[in-house]
Amino acid sequence: MLGKFEDLIEKASEMGLKAYFVDAGDIPVENRIALKCAYGCRSYGKRLSCPPHIITVEDFRKIIGEYSSALLLIDERDTSQIPDIQEAWGEIRKDSFHKMLELEYEAFREGFTFAHLLRPGSCNECDTCNLKKCIKPELRRFAPEAVGINLQKAMEKAGLVLEFCKPEKTTCVGVLLLE
Ligand code: SF4
Repeated sequence: MLGKFEDLIEKASEMGLKAYFVDAGDIPVENRIALKCAYGCRSYGKRLSCPPHIITVEDFRKIIGEYSSALLLIDERDTSQIPDIQEAWGEIRKDSFHKMLELEYEAFREGFTFAHLLRPGSCNECDTCNLKKCIKPELRRFAPEAVGINLQKAMEKAGLVLEFCKPEKTTCVGVLLLE
């Protein structure tokens, strides 16, 4: 049933990622997610991977409508021995992002010309984001929630549970759009 996606799922597994196939139409895009960015995130506006510097939820809804498939990418980490998870989050998400980006490149090589990754968390390829103009645009990707994806619901549709407030287990979640 997975057909042409099997290679990518296997490749993800070799990288230590779990990959779950979903129909792109089963990924909910909701306007209300924007509230979480604009009124609740202390990093709002500080990175070019995040609102208000990226495409709008409305535009993204049109874009995802042109995709048929996606992989939910899950990178689970045992962080029970890490004393300050907030401090460690930068390195964790960067490492996870690079694995997922490699999978995006692989998808392109396999013929998914419009493969595009939505990365875990905001871009931290530079210590301080150059808000005037991205200096590593080839690495600039935005997070699923930044464009309105309700990750919790998307994961539920794949039979998965996204847990919050569990510092002993950190889960990085990405979405690889495929067409
Ligand atoms: S690559 Fe650097 S300049 Fe570009 S969005 Fe990321 S942190 Fe900002």
